[in-house]
Amino acid sequence: MDWKTFVKAGRAKFTLENVSTGNRLTFRVNKHADKDLWFVSVLNGPDNENSFMYIGTTFDKEFKLTKKSRVGVTSQSYLTFKWLNDILNSDEDLPNTVRFYHAGRCGRCGRELTVPASIECGFGPECVGLVYGDNPHLAGHIPLETSKKIGKILKTANELNCLQNSD
Ligand SMILES: [Zn+2]
Repeated sequence: MDWKTFVKAGRAKFTLENVSTGNRLTFRVNKHADKDLWFVSVLNGPDNENSFMYIGTTFDKEFKLTKKSRVGVTSQSYLTFKWLNDILNSDEDLPNTVRFYHAGRCGRCGRELTVPASIECGFGPECVGLVYGDNPHLAGHIPLETSKKIGKILKTANELNCLQNSD
């Protein structure tokens, strides 16, 4: 996908995943109504719609902290977006170790999805269990690799006790 156009489109929400470490960050980039200013926030809580923290503004191709920034120059979110912005304004593309996912919506409940494995399968951690049961790969609808990731999510959801019981 053309991720550079996506980031600047006005109301972009996306997740960057480092596939070698498994680390990921979800950003929201909203454009000013009139000016070429982009306000960048990072997801820092459980609510994919609202748990965003402002980190800085892109103006004239430069990403900077402002007075309202809630993070410092050593924060992972600031450094990651600055790195992304530099690539965005160059002829380079993302390295193979970094994947870009635009936010999706759960096919069952419509909630926004930001976790790569959820975006790939189209369902959030609770709904995937309700749709596929405990063995999503047996349904044969999704790649084994994805179902392995979902397996992790299911376990996490179970640990958090947010999976509904089927009894
Ligand atoms: Zn759902």
